[in-house]
Amino acid sequence: MPVADAAPKTAAKTLPDAQTVTAVRHWTDSLFSFRVTRPASLRFRSGEFVMIGLLGDNGKPLLRAYSIASPNWDEELEFYSIKVPDGPLTSKLQHIQPGDEIILRPKPVGTLVLDALLPGKRLWFLATGTGIAPFASLMRDPETYERYEQVVMMHTCRTADELTYGRELVENLKHDPLLGEIYGEDFANRLIYYPTTTREESPRMGRITDNMTSGKVFQDLGLPPISPETDRAMVCGSLAFNVDVKDVLEGFGLREGANSEPREFVVEKAFVGEGV
Ligand code: FAD
Repeated sequence: MPVADAAPKTAAKTLPDAQTVTAVRHWTDSLFSFRVTRPASLRFRSGEFVMIGLLGDNGKPLLRAYSIASPNWDEELEFYSIKVPDGPLTSKLQHIQPGDEIILRPKPVGTLVLDALLPGKRLWFLATGTGIAPFASLMRDPETYERYEQVVMMHTCRTADELTYGRELVENLKHDPLLGEIYGEDFANRLIYYPTTTREESPRMGRITDNMTSGKVFQDLGLPPISPETDRAMVCGSLAFNVDVKDVLEGFGLREGANSEPREFVVEKAFVGEGV
C-alpha cells in the first residue's frame, strides 16, 4: 500500500491562507457583507485592513485591500464590499456562499487606529460608501468609548438604501446589552449617527464637507464646531473625498497624524481610483 494512503487524512485546504465563509448578506445590487473564520493567530487593531481575495483564472491569488469591519474581539471577521461591474475580484467575490473559501493574508495594517490620534473629547468618523467599513469595526470596539466621551458617525451615500448596513449596525449597537452594561443607559447618547444622501431625497442630505463648512451638522446635532482642543477625526472615502475633508479639517485647525506621530486626524482611502 502506498505510504500516502496509510497517513491519517486531514481536511485539505484548497487555497493558500484559506478561511471559510460563514455568512453572506446582500444589501443592495452593489453592496454586500460577509463573515469568515478568523485565523487563530490573527491579532489586529480595530480599523486596520488586510489583503483578501480568491484564486484568479490564471491560478494565482487575486487579492485586494479590505478593511476589517468587525471589532478586534470578534471571533469571526466581517467585511463590507462593493460589487464593481467587471471588477476583477468583486465580480467573482459577490457570488461567495457559506462554506466557500477565500484567501486572507493575516498581515493587518492601516492608519485608522485609535493609537494614531491624540486623546480628545469627541471622535468624528467621516465616511462615504464602503468607507464605513473600518468604522463598523471601531464603533463596535469598547476601547473607542473608553477613549472618547462621544462618537459621531457621519456617513454619506448616493441613495438611502446604500446607508442600510451602517444604519442597522448603529441601531443594533445602541441596544447592545454589553455596551449598555458597561456604559449604562447613557450609551445611546454617546454614539451619534448622521447619515446623508447626495442623489436621493432623504431626511438629511448633502456632502460631509458641505455640511461641515456650512455648520449645518453642528446646528442639527447641537454641537460646537470642530476644534483642535476637543475634536479628533478619522476619514475614509474616495481619494477626492479624502482630499476635500482634509482641507476642511485643517481649516478647523486639526493636523493629520500617523501611527508614528499621533495628531488630531487620520485619513485612509477606501479604494484606489476616482469612484463616485
Ligand atoms: P478594482 O479593479 O480593484 O476596482 C475597479 C474600480 O472600481 C476602481 O478603480 C474604483 O474606481 C472602483 N472601486 C473599487 N472599490 C470601490 C469601492 N469600495 N467603492 C466604490 N468604488 C470602488 N473595498 C470594499 O468594498 N470594502 C472595503 O472594506 C475596502 N477596503 C479597502 C481598503 C484600502 C486600504 C484600499 C486601498 C481599498 C479598499 N477597498 C475596499 C477597495 C478594494 O481593494 C477593491 O478595489 C474592490 O474590492 C474592487 O475590487 P475589484 O478587483 O473588483 O475592482
